[in-house]
Amino acid sequence: MTDRIREFLRTRRDEGPRLIIDLDVVRDNYNAFAGALPDTRVFYAVKANPAPEILELLTKLGSCFDTASIGEIEMVLSAGATADRISFGNTIKKERDIARAYERGVRLFAVDCEAEVEKIARAAPGSKVFCRILCDGEGAEWPLSKKFGCVPEMAPRVLELAHRLGLVAHGVSFHVGSQQRNPLMWNRALASAASIFREMAERGIVLSMVNLGGGFPTKYLKDVPAVKAYGQAIFAALRAHFGNRIPETIIEPGRGMVGNAGIIEAEVVLVSNKSDDPSDLRWVYLDIGKFHGLAETMDEAIRYPIRTPRDGDDLIPCVLAGPTCDSADVMYEKEPYLLPFSLEIGDKVLIEGTGAYTTTYSSQNFNGMTGLRQIVI
Ligand SMILES: *Cc1c(COP(=O)(O)O)cnc(C)c1O
Repeated sequence: MTDRIREFLRTRRDEGPRLIIDLDVVRDNYNAFAGALPDTRVFYAVKANPAPEILELLTKLGSCFDTASIGEIEMVLSAGATADRISFGNTIKKERDIARAYERGVRLFAVDCEAEVEKIARAAPGSKVFCRILCDGEGAEWPLSKKFGCVPEMAPRVLELAHRLGLVAHGVSFHVGSQQRNPLMWNRALASAASIFREMAERGIVLSMVNLGGGFPTKYLKDVPAVKAYGQAIFAALRAHFGNRIPETIIEPGRGMVGNAGIIEAEVVLVSNKSDDPSDLRWVYLDIGKFHGLAETMDEAIRYPIRTPRDGDDLIPCVLAGPTCDSADVMYEKEPYLLPFSLEIGDKVLIEGTGAYTTTYSSQNFNGMTGLRQIVI
């Protein structure tokens, strides 16, 4: 909770749920990344929070952008960044969209198989491509393990095809899993990247870039290491595997850039029990749930800190659920959430660390409930 958000909530009372973003925190986060990895370019992962104010601020600060669709590319261009600061980092793209990105000036693309290379060679001739390799996501609270990337042994074949089709075989990328709490997890992926660099050199093709992905955590209930610790661990791993020939590197922070910049103010709609059996859990229903921004509570993966006006009172375990008529709209049940016994209908609660992966996960109008509103200050 920052002073600016506290003051905003105090003076600008309104019906929620609403997400307040403090741009000063985003600026601090950007500077922390730039300081912790001084030789690495920052490509903000736009999907984490594409608010125009955030994209404009990051453009001014010198950031580049990792995008996943034409929509995101256009948002970045509208924020004032030039196309040479954009990577089309989704490995799954329609060929038409590759052509549209190319028309707008984008020249950097992710691939993880030969069919995607062929699309790019046709629709974006001469562009740079990097090959994403699989990473098991161990240690991450929101792993991205199987869907993107090929096994490291396959990457040289993919990159060699790119070279043969007139593209620039630019480098290798990976993502160690989102909310990665272990800074040492970059080490193994960098060992794979270095061996791909060596294999390609033997084939006469010189790679130049390693995309270190995202994964930098934000603080939820548990403490996380500072960005500096990640910078040190990554630099040590680069040294260990690339020696004196450290390649150009980029990072793609999403959650770590905006997560702690946002707080959702929500309201308690109902507090109830489902029987007279005192061992049955109490249910607390908020006016926001899985379908209006808290999708990352899926499998109870992300546990947000929740503040109430009655903090300090005795706590009891509660099932925490959303307001819609879908029975999947329950945030915490397997591991109930401790909330004050005195919590009442109408109380406002603050859900912290919600600057990333919330507004864009909010449905438009499910059950006639409007999506999460965002206010950037
Ligand atoms: C989502 C995503 C990111 C951002 O990940 P965080 O864990 O939020 O930092 C970075 N790169 C790619 C390719 C992504 O898909």
